[in-house]
Formats: sequence, C-alpha cells, structure tokens
Amino acid sequence: MLNILANTHFNTVMLAKLTRSQEKVWHFLQGQNSPMSAQELHTALKAQQRIGLATVYRALETLKLKGLICALPMPNGETLYSPLPTDRHHLNCLGCHKVIALDNCPLEVLPQAISQSYNFKVFYHTLEFFGLCRECQLAGEV
Ligand SMILES: [Zn+2]
Ligand SMILES: [Zn+2]
Repeated sequence: MLNILANTHFNTVMLAKLTRSQEKVWHFLQGQNSPMSAQELHTALKAQQRIGLATVYRALETLKLKGLICALPMPNGETLYSPLPTDRHHLNCLGCHKVIALDNCPLEVLPQAISQSYNFKVFYHTLEFFGLCRECQLAGEV
C-alpha cells in the first residue's frame, strides 16, 4: 500500500514536472481529510518549513490548472482545496442513510466524449445518487 502511494506520488510529480514548492503543497494536501483554504495550508506548512503565502497561492493555482487538486469556491468568496476526488460513486439511501458504493464508474467513456465534443479538458467529475434502498422501498409498501 505504501509502495503504491509512493509510486503514485513519484509519477504525479514526475509527469506534472512540479517545482519543489508545488510538490510540497500537493503532497501536504494528499494527507488532509478535509478541504483547506490557502491560509490554513500556509499556516500548516509554515510550521514545517519556510514558505511564503504568495508561493502557496501560486502553487495552488498551478496545481489546480494541471488538474492535480480540487478547488471548491465557497459562498464567502474563499476557495477551499482538497485532493482530487477518487472515481467512486455511491447510492445514498434517504430512508436509512445506508451508502452503497458502485463497483464501477457508470460514466465510463462519457468524460472522454465530453472532452472531445466540447474541447474541454476534464480532470475529474462527481456523481452521487439519492433514493431508497431495497429494504426502505419494501418498508414503504406496507
Ligand atoms: Zn434504506
Ligand atoms: Zn466516475
């Protein structure tokens, strides 16, 4: 597992030709469980090494445009950054809150088709399903 992670890290950094500060920011984000703002990231990184806020901003912008991180604009104007979502989709039951993970991505070739039709470079996508599971459907029929 650690080997796979190390290889993924190596490949991403090599393929994307990241600078050291971009790599540091990217690597740090991979270990976070919740999205962070540039300021939060800067505060956390600064505790480990000398890095300026402007450098963090520039690194985040580059990583975003290379499709290596996810940037979520918040209603308050702030942007939160997180690792790329994994290509997993779920069925969320509104009755019992059960979450069923799909075995495969149901979109398959759709992202490539969209890339071609719209000449848009798709980095990632999200897709969630909401409804009722089998048990909750049966319970509702009583
Ligand atoms: Zn249910
Ligand atoms: Zn997918």
